[in-house]
Amino acid sequence: MQKEYEKYCHNCGAVIDKAAEICPKCGVRQARLSNNHPETVRLDLSSKWLITLLLCAFLGYFGAHRFYNEKYGTAILQLITFGGFGIWYIIDLIIIIVGHFKDKNGEYITMN
Ligand SMILES: [Zn+2]
Repeated sequence: MQKEYEKYCHNCGAVIDKAAEICPKCGVRQARLSNNHPETVRLDLSSKWLITLLLCAFLGYFGAHRFYNEKYGTAILQLITFGGFGIWYIIDLIIIIVGHFKDKNGEYITMN
């Protein structure tokens, strides 16, 4: 049984200390899970979506999410109308959440 503070060496399969950077059995350096875990990569790809969402949620009145995506024309329009009188940016927020907001290249900004 593998204990919580132990892990398997990815090279020789020996049970080693979880904090060990190098396997004492075969001497191979252990890959850090956080550095090359696929979940982490997926989160990196969605950061644009997350930033757009947060900007819209907190600074949507100023068109911040549109400035961030370099949609300056509509961004300035939102800025001077206070996010389209508080309606337009709410609609934007919903569109961002469902993944139908487009960046300046016309590509959808999605969660993943
Ligand atoms: Zn090993």
